[in-house]
Amino acid sequence: MPKVQTARGSKVPFEFSATTENLFGEDLSAEGFIGDVKISGEVEEVGKNFVVRGQIDCTKTFTCDRCLTQATENQMHEFEEEFDRSQVVEDLIDITELLRDTLLAGQPMKNLCKADCKGLCPVCGANLNDGECECDKFIVDPRLETLKDLKLK
Ligand SMILES: [Zn+2]
Ligand SMILES: [Zn+2]
Repeated sequence: MPKVQTARGSKVPFEFSATTENLFGEDLSAEGFIGDVKISGEVEEVGKNFVVRGQIDCTKTFTCDRCLTQATENQMHEFEEEFDRSQVVEDLIDITELLRDTLLAGQPMKNLCKADCKGLCPVCGANLNDGECECDKFIVDPRLETLKDLKLK
């Protein structure tokens, strides 16, 4: 349960890292997160409230939805949320939900090894990122391919 320190009248920086299981009491390795998630930021008193802002750095591995190769990606997600005094317990704010929501909301609908991944040849199954194969196939305009992806969502 990650909690951050508050102090009236001054900014308090925070920085820690832990596995998703330690952070959320929930193993998110099914989502592909591996290793420690790094969290850094600061808590600032604003009027009667406290603003918590910062960023999450994490690493994710996944299978590309188009070419089916294994890919690893470093992600950075920013967060900022205001908490009122009722949410401050013994000068601490629990930011578990904020972190979890930020992390999950930041995940793409499709996992791609790269934005312009060419995918697999529908005929021979060759990975077209490695070069064109010899197959006689209908070439799909990449812009239409994007539209097709949108419809599937
Ligand atoms: Zn790919
Ligand atoms: Zn082919």
